[in-house]
Amino acid sequence: MPGTESLRRRKPDGKTDAVYISEEGKKLDQKLDQYGSYEFGGPMGVLAIMIGFPVLMYYMWICLWFYDGKLTHPTSIDDIQPFLGRMWTHLCEDASPNMYAWKVYSGNIFFQLFLAWVMPGFMQEGLPVPSLGYKTLMYNCNALTSLYVTMGTAAVLNYYGSFRLAGIIDNYGHLMSVAMIWGFSVSFGIYFVAIATGTQMRMSGNFIYDVFMGASLNPRIGPVDLKMWAEVRMSWIIVFFLAVSGACKQYETLGYVTPNMAFMCLATWFYINACAKGEECIPQTWDMYHEKWGFMVIFWNFAGVPFSYVYSVVYMASHDPSKYKFSTPTYVALYATLCTAYYIWDTANAQKSHFKMQTQGVYLFRKTFPQLPGNTVKNPTYIQTAHGNRLLTGGWWAWSRKPNYVVDWIMSLTWGLVIGPATPIPYFYSVFFITVLVHRCGRDFERCAVKYGKDWDRYCEAVPYKFIPYIY
Ligand code: NDP
Repeated sequence: MPGTESLRRRKPDGKTDAVYISEEGKKLDQKLDQYGSYEFGGPMGVLAIMIGFPVLMYYMWICLWFYDGKLTHPTSIDDIQPFLGRMWTHLCEDASPNMYAWKVYSGNIFFQLFLAWVMPGFMQEGLPVPSLGYKTLMYNCNALTSLYVTMGTAAVLNYYGSFRLAGIIDNYGHLMSVAMIWGFSVSFGIYFVAIATGTQMRMSGNFIYDVFMGASLNPRIGPVDLKMWAEVRMSWIIVFFLAVSGACKQYETLGYVTPNMAFMCLATWFYINACAKGEECIPQTWDMYHEKWGFMVIFWNFAGVPFSYVYSVVYMASHDPSKYKFSTPTYVALYATLCTAYYIWDTANAQKSHFKMQTQGVYLFRKTFPQLPGNTVKNPTYIQTAHGNRLLTGGWWAWSRKPNYVVDWIMSLTWGLVIGPATPIPYFYSVFFITVLVHRCGRDFERCAVKYGKDWDRYCEAVPYKFIPYIY
């Protein structure tokens, strides 16, 4: 791209080098790769999360499916035991890890692994990884081809009656249990593999805390980067197919699909398609080059995201449409909000990734559908840090330091608004997500402040707002 050659990092001797990091930057990277202090409340905090989240997920699904979306609770002290008994019965009868769930959930895992291994993709070089001596890893970005093969396979199987898509939502509880078993098993399994192969890093020494935060940074099976694979191929594919399943279920029972359910199909397709079409941007996210592959990420990708983000679909699949019917202007406002937030989210993430790629010397970007106007900032302004990296201050990134978080959150809110006030449970995603984003933002800014020192202060002066311009 013309006018961007100057973005390549320049060494003090004037030569350009795609992976140049200053000596000072290397020392800081080393510091960041040492274990610092406990996060998430330390071992007790992470243990509470590991137990509490599965319990909460079961509770919310039971409320939605069996109690009309109301937050069921014991009505008196005497009712506590019967209440727990009712919950236990739902767990044992309606959420048992049955054969259907093992076949469908595990079948999807192996199918997605197979596709990730064999499908042709776009080869993307990751960012230089400090713990690997600034080696860059190659990523075969074939999520898009894999997604369309998955969608085609599901459509054919459904059409010929070999696999009923509507059955997915009917088996929500059973599938959720199998997803949790996979989530826990992979988290512990990968921890022991990392220890056995000596690939652990940034360890605290506390077993449960290290399982939660993860031990290894980039575990792979053959050419498949497991962390990136799980982030795109497990979580969002299931989320999308749950929405499709809800739509099929409505079609079977009502003979039509409500605009609300269609909204969820579109919203979840936007998300999975964006992750797949822009997969080459994921190696530059901090999940990929900083966060280790532990319970926090694994459980969330295998079970948390798929089974706690689309409660509105669960509600709509099991309730009469009169409970969540809106006027036409409300539908227009809802769809318009989603599309606007999506546009900003897609282009903000693309602008930062393209900027980073340009800095690495990549100027030709992938042309996958839909390429939105404004996804690359021409002649961007930026802060040059002593570390060697550059911080973009142009495009959406001139407005706030986390424009992508703000609009992502707005999208999550629409996933609840789509059922209006019928039940509070689908709003869990947006409430949980804002907590995650604020916490994640704090962790990220702390890390950046260490990494960039005074240059981070200069960046914060240039872009003073964290989230919403002129407000916060
Ligand atoms: P960011 O995309 O904001 O990435 C943060 C990193 O980017 C920083 O650590 C820094 O890394 C670099 N950076 C920050 N500002 C700049 C800048 N101005 N110029 C250049 N580099 C910059 O955050 P995430 O990776 O957390 O999120 C990516 C997307 O994923 C977001 O849209 C988020 O909403 C979404 N997401 C969704 C989740 C969900 O469950 N739905 C969960 C988590 C994230 P460095 O300088 O070291 O390169």
